[in-house]
Amino acid sequence: MSKTCPECGDKIVGRIDKKFCSDGCRNAYNNKLNKDGKNLIRNINNRLRKNWRILEALNPDQKTKTTRTKLIEKGFDFNYFTSIYTTKAGTIYYFVYDQGYLPLDNDFYALVKRQ
Ligand SMILES: [Zn+2]
Repeated sequence: MSKTCPECGDKIVGRIDKKFCSDGCRNAYNNKLNKDGKNLIRNINNRLRKNWRILEALNPDQKTKTTRTKLIEKGFDFNYFTSIYTTKAGTIYYFVYDQGYLPLDNDFYALVKRQ
């Protein structure tokens, strides 16, 4: 059975547990993996930072109300938050770091800042 190098596709010769044809291919392959991971994390961090900035700008004091329309207009992405807080009554707050939001009726959102 012959294996091929996942980086260049060449046939691998030598030890049975060898995964790459050369050190160069191993390094190139691992660098690419790390880069993809870093890009993914950076993109999500950027999304979270943008969401946080939007909440911070709309909620300069500790508490306010806004609308879903306004949040979306500013580019808020509801898929990205850092934690969820459920009160004893079952109300669910979504947090982006210390800035939280709570969906209310009729398109409204309550914005709160965690102390
Ligand atoms: Zn190779």
